[in-house]
Amino acid sequence: MEHNVITINGQPYPTRNYPLLPIAAYGSRDLYNLNDTQYRTSVAIHEAGHAIAHLAGGNAHLVHVSLADDLDVEVNGAVEAWSYDRHAPAAVIADCAGERAVDMWLHIAGLWTDERAIAAEIAAHFDRALALAVPGMTHALLRGMHDPTDDLLAAHWPSVEAVAEALITARHLTGDQVAHITGLPNREQP
Ligand SMILES: [Zn+2]
Repeated sequence: MEHNVITINGQPYPTRNYPLLPIAAYGSRDLYNLNDTQYRTSVAIHEAGHAIAHLAGGNAHLVHVSLADDLDVEVNGAVEAWSYDRHAPAAVIADCAGERAVDMWLHIAGLWTDERAIAAEIAAHFDRALALAVPGMTHALLRGMHDPTDDLLAAHWPSVEAVAEALITARHLTGDQVAHITGLPNREQP
């Protein structure tokens, strides 16, 4: 069940988790209510999730993944990857992998709450906009891609954590460095 309560840039932003707070309270960092170390880990896990999904999905060349020094900026992490087929399910799964990795990490770390789950969804609004640009894609179809995304992340979870940890230290990893850490192949540039 989706709840069309949140809007981003004037557009409804359906979330799978039910918002309990007034909309005005939705700054994603405030909503997370994590300490600085936990918050940095959440951003690193988000980016690592994208990176692993790109490599494990086998549909992209991963160029780099990075984490900003100052996390209080709108874009505080980034992944650059060149997809072979931008409309393939693997590409959409890679878009979903950031927010789903954070949701999984919150559960594993014993930190999951409704508010934090929604914060992870809000933090992924650029990712969802990208996925929704695929012809025929809808919020409901995108939501259906969360299951295969979760399966992929679960199968590669130790790699997600290892890349997040390396990212927290190094702030920037090339695709080949991520491939080295995880043992996953990084395809040639398309
Ligand atoms: Zn993302």
